[in-house]
Amino acid sequence: MSIVIKDLNKIYPNGHHALKNLNLTIPSGMFGLLGPNGAGKSTLMRILVALMEPSSGEVEVYGYNLLRERKEVRRILGYLPQDFRFFAKYKVQEFLDYAARLSGMNNGRLRRKAVGDMLEQVGLYEVRERYASKLSGGMKRRLGIAQALIHQPKVIIVDEPTTGLDPEERIRFRNLLSQISANDTTIILSTHIVGDISSSCTDMALLNRGELSFNGSPEEMLKRAEGKVWRLRVTDEQYREINEKYPVIATIPCGMEWDIQVVADKLEGYDNAVNYPPNLEHAYVYFMESKLNLWLND
Ligand code: ADP
Repeated sequence: MSIVIKDLNKIYPNGHHALKNLNLTIPSGMFGLLGPNGAGKSTLMRILVALMEPSSGEVEVYGYNLLRERKEVRRILGYLPQDFRFFAKYKVQEFLDYAARLSGMNNGRLRRKAVGDMLEQVGLYEVRERYASKLSGGMKRRLGIAQALIHQPKVIIVDEPTTGLDPEERIRFRNLLSQISANDTTIILSTHIVGDISSSCTDMALLNRGELSFNGSPEEMLKRAEGKVWRLRVTDEQYREINEKYPVIATIPCGMEWDIQVVADKLEGYDNAVNYPPNLEHAYVYFMESKLNLWLND
């Protein structure tokens, strides 16, 4: 089962074309939607959770048409928005119970069991009596995912979940998402952080200015960037010249010179440049830059 997006467009009332003819199939498992700020990720997320209508195009979620069967789609969806906030009056357990009631879990005994189990799963059972607004950033994020999961949705959409978390919490949150995705659910993780994708997603898309730059596995993206990263030693003057033309992604001082890494199809005039194995961050820069060059040459 999957999500199929066909010819999707979103033009905001002010004329801004935020999604341009998007075609994308999202399989089950953990899917990463990567792109810089302003790429259109939140716009796409809001359309997928039926909070906003597209200007044109079709979306099918596990066989349901998003525009004609909104209710059914909402029932199988869980959403953790970027700026999820908690009412100050709720304690952790009360809040999750409230979310469970909202999702239609009317049987008190079953609901209490589901809330307890979920708090265990996200590692918040010990703090269930604490006020939700007083939790640490990472704990808040975990309570946010708990409310998105409480009605056992098939698709979970998570918008920029690791922004502002310290490295330990970031890893913990990613691992939690990976565990959930093992149960034949689809998790869409929208992020501008390359590390979120490389360590957890099996499939991904790269969005840039409302257009799809890449769709495939992180490994395929890496492969496409092979031979495009160069390492070389340069003088001050050469450094300035290269920096004007290409993205320089690492600069290490080396006596009076610089040891640099550059992303480019070819580095003409620099015979001492040797290929360097790309990581996903290099590949990301490569895709963003080649897109940029296409626009500049338009
Ligand atoms: P991302 O989540 O990737 O940062 P967004 O989907 O929030 O990107 O925004 C995509 C583009 O659409 C941006 O240029 C943003 O300024 C614009 N945009 C977002 N919301 C609105 C709106 N309500 N009205 C007009 N433009 C908007």
